[in-house]
Amino acid sequence: MSSSPINLPVVETFHSLQGEGIHGGRSAFFIRLGGCSVGCNWCDTKHSWPAAAHPDTAVVELASAAAFAQQQGAAFVVITGGEPLHHNLEELCKALEAAAPQFPRHLETSGVNPLSGHFNWITLSPKRHNPPTAELLSRCHELKVVVHEAADLSFAQSMAEAANRANNSPALLLQPGWESSDGQRLALEFVRTQPTWRLSLQSHKWLGVR
Ligand code: SF4
Repeated sequence: MSSSPINLPVVETFHSLQGEGIHGGRSAFFIRLGGCSVGCNWCDTKHSWPAAAHPDTAVVELASAAAFAQQQGAAFVVITGGEPLHHNLEELCKALEAAAPQFPRHLETSGVNPLSGHFNWITLSPKRHNPPTAELLSRCHELKVVVHEAADLSFAQSMAEAANRANNSPALLLQPGWESSDGQRLALEFVRTQPTWRLSLQSHKWLGVR
């Protein structure tokens, strides 16, 4: 990976509630970076894929916006995408640390690239067709697997076992694909019978907010 840039392609920034995962329902400032080559066919942010389509923004500018959101009540900042780890995130994290030192940094990643930057919380959302690195499996705090079909359940279990083998015990979440009735049925039944897993719903979509 190249050295850490002081500008990054940014799709959008916004202050809303975290819709998904363990921290769902909490106030959060989102920085959505452009660029993704993972290629999930059900992706709901395909507009983020071409990095060059999104304006290069100085990391200090992003950090300043995050600090303002913290003053407005955001509990943490979420670096998402696209696939944020396609970029080296060292400079972004340094800028966030300087502008908002007590503002926890969360990362949402598919885990296909090396980890860069420093985060208080890492959500790993692994993809069956492009599995994550052992490093991310060993470092994530939350493993969130999207379910569309039965094969996603065995993949979820294999990812949890791989994290355990790497001496990690992340929180385990299944998230039905949006408007996937099969995904809903499979995830509900799986979680009902597996006490170590919990359901994650995209509450922001149900509410019709970002
Ligand atoms: S990794 Fe995320 S942004 Fe990239 S294609 Fe998959 S769902 Fe979309």
